Amino acid sequence: MRYLVISDIHSNFSALQMVLIDGRPFDAVLCLGDIIGYGPNPNECVELLQEQSLTCIAGNHDWGAIGRADLFVFNNDARQALYWTQHELSSENRAFIADLPTTMQIGDFLLVHGSPREPIWEYLVDVRSAKENFLAYTFNFALVGHTHLPLAIEWCADLNQAKVILPIFGAPMPLTGHRLILNPGSVGQPRDGEPSACYAILDADQMTWEFRRVPYAVEITQERMRARGLPQRLIDRLQMGR
Ligand code: ZN
Repeated sequence: MRYLVISDIHSNFSALQMVLIDGRPFDAVLCLGDIIGYGPNPNECVELLQEQSLTCIAGNHDWGAIGRADLFVFNNDARQALYWTQHELSSENRAFIADLPTTMQIGDFLLVHGSPREPIWEYLVDVRSAKENFLAYTFNFALVGHTHLPLAIEWCADLNQAKVILPIFGAPMPLTGHRLILNPGSVGQPRDGEPSACYAILDADQMTWEFRRVPYAVEITQERMRARGLPQRLIDRLQMGR
């Protein structure tokens, strides 16, 4: 199976469309949560994903948009966008989001939005929190999102520590023989300093993982956000990739 691995789409329909084209061919989509929040097209994103052969888990913004998370844990801009999303989301799409599980296991791959320990909320950005997760759980591969940073973290059993591997885009890396936390980055709101959409290709037959990124029409998403009165800071950050 060849999987398109995506996360943190955040209602950015233009970015999602581009990733679904650029990632071809693939057999199925693994989505690591935060389909909605921040951006202008929550319904379109949920509906386009449902047309795919899809495995999807919930993220913190998904929960915020259906009233399952207290909106006061989000910053002002995120909260304002979530209020807007709550009103915008159709009842069918709300029901779809409400049914998403917080963890899934696909073969050797554990899918969570945040971390194995805290599937919805923990940000896996440093080797210390990664180490605690590697030690407390038995997963071989954890696919995570949430930080919007494309990244791999490897467990080095001989050194009893975790090691960050920075992404090399467009070059498949072998997975066999490693324990890894893999983050494809964000489709709809990258925060690594580049505005282009991030995703990954997981080839479960060859056992390889490839970080990918593709430019999309950022200005179209920005225009739609403006038209819907979403916060200016959220509009600006899309073109900065921050
Ligand atoms: Zn997110």
